[in-house]
Amino acid sequence: MNDTTVDCCADPSQKLLSLEQGRQRILDAVPAVADHEQLHLHAALNRVLAEPVVSAIDVPPFANSAMDGYAIRHADSANAALCTLTVAGESFAGRPFDGQLESGQCIRIMTGAVMPDSADTVLMQEHVERNGEQIQFAPANVRAGENVRHAGEDTRAGQQVLEPGKVLGPSELGLLASVGVGEVRVRRKLRVAFFSTGDELTSVGTPLRHGQIYDSNRYALYGLLSNAGVDFHDLGVIPDQRDAVRKAFQQAASIADLVLTSGGVSVGEADFVTETLEELGEINFWRMAMKPGKPLAFGKLGDAVFFGLPGNPVSVMVTFYQFVLPAIRKMRGEQARDPLLFEARCANSLKKAAGRAEFQRGILQRDADGSWVVSTTGLQGSHVLSSMSHANCFILLAAENTGVSEGDSVLVQPFSDF
Ligand code: AMP
Ligand code: MG
Repeated sequence: MNDTTVDCCADPSQKLLSLEQGRQRILDAVPAVADHEQLHLHAALNRVLAEPVVSAIDVPPFANSAMDGYAIRHADSANAALCTLTVAGESFAGRPFDGQLESGQCIRIMTGAVMPDSADTVLMQEHVERNGEQIQFAPANVRAGENVRHAGEDTRAGQQVLEPGKVLGPSELGLLASVGVGEVRVRRKLRVAFFSTGDELTSVGTPLRHGQIYDSNRYALYGLLSNAGVDFHDLGVIPDQRDAVRKAFQQAASIADLVLTSGGVSVGEADFVTETLEELGEINFWRMAMKPGKPLAFGKLGDAVFFGLPGNPVSVMVTFYQFVLPAIRKMRGEQARDPLLFEARCANSLKKAAGRAEFQRGILQRDADGSWVVSTTGLQGSHVLSSMSHANCFILLAAENTGVSEGDSVLVQPFSDF
């Protein structure tokens, strides 16, 4: 692991690490899980492909009709103002016409049905007049080859359809099935263990005593990790005691590839997370030039990757999205991808001091002219968890930004990117 920033842990006054530096160091340091397993498509949703998938067949496997209508030989309709053909049979999806199409004939055909050998064009039934076994149409309106889907038009036999690192979503499961692949080799699931630290924390279901608050971080993390497609173990709330934190660290590291904690990473007297990480593992850095989320511990605990997230609930979510999720994606074996960022007009003025990048919470929508406009959710304290629920995006303000005036253009990252 990169140890160039270890010093900053001993000296908190040292320069803060920029977001980009932090993210890059994390990505450089985390390994991807190596183990694979073979899974049926039903079990493979949201898993990461370990090997390329090559199609053994053409898709579609045969030329077929894109419309309900009549398959014809286009040459039959040349030079006539009105063309008449005889219906010689029918081709339905799954029930091909097995005869030979002669000149002057056509075949009643349905969408997805096999094109008869010598037919090359399909007339839409709406463009045809049918009388008994005869059809009539105006050839001027017919383009040779229209309404035919060719064999291999979507995928060719021998073609790679999916590459390693691809996350198998609904489209991929459908695509795999379309090429006849029923099982795939995927990376094994990442194992994550997490716990909250803090004497003030009470779990839901128990009445609060004076001075206590409910532990919300474990529930937010439960949701974040569920959506991230990992296996996880919730190790509960650990009190602010050196021994208890040490024991929880050891247990977590023994069962997980990735350990997440929240709280206890500041320099307060009851903050044992960084200290324990220094004692049991390796620590990389813990002060990021960002808001919210400045205190962040990152390092190794045995073979496990460790993130000590801040305690404040919004900071937990911001640091998860900005650092932990990219790390999880790499550890799961996913292909790297850039964040989805775009510009929007800001409907409010925003206060901001130079120095740290900020992730303010915003509500992004289209205005009456159809252009993107983002408004603030209001109070931006890192304890105001309701701001995350009201928001649908982050408003990204660069470290050097010194405030936004109403109407300024700002960068936004929709939550759907996560
Ligand atoms: P700490 O970093 O432990 O000093 O915590 C910073 C702030 O976050 C304090 O106000 C804590 O009470 C709060 N906090 C820490 N952990 C949690 C949690 N699991 N759920 C909700 N708030 C928390
Ligand atoms: Mg605490």
